[in-house]
Amino acid sequence: MYPFSYRTARSEQDAITAAMAGGRYLAGGTTLVDLMREEIERPERLIDINRLALRDIRLDRDKLVLGALARMADVAADPATRQAQPLIVEALLEGASPQLRNMASIGGNLLQRVRCPYFRSLDAACNKRDPGSGCAAIDGINGGHAILGTSDHCVATHPSDLAVALVALDGVVLLRGPEGERRLRVEELYRLPGDTPHLEHTLDPGELIVAVEVPHGAYAAGARYLKVRDRASYEFALVSVAAALDVEEGVVRAARLAAGGVGTMPWRLRRCEDALIGRRADRAAWQAAADLATEGARPLSGNHFKVELLRRTVVRALEMIGEPA
Ligand code: SF4
Repeated sequence: MYPFSYRTARSEQDAITAAMAGGRYLAGGTTLVDLMREEIERPERLIDINRLALRDIRLDRDKLVLGALARMADVAADPATRQAQPLIVEALLEGASPQLRNMASIGGNLLQRVRCPYFRSLDAACNKRDPGSGCAAIDGINGGHAILGTSDHCVATHPSDLAVALVALDGVVLLRGPEGERRLRVEELYRLPGDTPHLEHTLDPGELIVAVEVPHGAYAAGARYLKVRDRASYEFALVSVAAALDVEEGVVRAARLAAGGVGTMPWRLRRCEDALIGRRADRAAWQAAADLATEGARPLSGNHFKVELLRRTVVRALEMIGEPA
């Protein structure tokens, strides 16, 4: 392995200062350390932020607040989170293995790198790893790649299940950086690949995610996360859907839908949501909404199946709302 320096941050300001001097934040390390071992990523300075007091999980009057360093497993087991936001718990438990959930942080989960096999192979052309080198996936093995938000330069899906749930629930990230604090909707944290797929986030240099906030909503109680994948555990989504509804007297008052495994970023299905408002809560409404989910889809040679699979997953996720997880 190549040489790099390592230091522990004593405070948030200490961490930010070190990052501005060229360091990379290290939290659970479940993505970054793997990529360093393979020399896909080669940071010269690591700033270990694990001693920062960012692990609290708190239920406020109007929102759930998750510290950025709270571990996936701790959030999934937290009684307040289970009661207030079961969708988040289900998405966390559907992601990664128990061992990884014990290590991986909430902030790190949102910033994890893509799982495209060509990104992780130094022999392959990859614009994300090596800008301007090409994209081996476009004419390669691409069954697991995206159909929405793609460009001629990158077609990798965003891998986080948690991000899909947070996008559906209008989650917000609280950031701290050299210019102070700011808040960003989780959806705004991500960039489409366009012709710069190596730029994945809208974070400014040195910015640190310190917390994630999830507003309460009448739709949260029965919300569900449905993940379709090649095997039952420790596998990334072919298609996933986060679905939440507020139904009153059989009529849909509010809807939240987002998809994973199909987009180059967590994909909010706003057209589907709009189509549900005011409709009777029945299968005809689910089907009509699902038909809108694939607008703009650009399937690749190996993933045409995702178009129909996304529609069916939307319908099934809506049917599952209110069923026990
Ligand atoms: Fe690289 Fe993106 Fe192409 Fe995969 S899809 S090879 S990550 S440019």
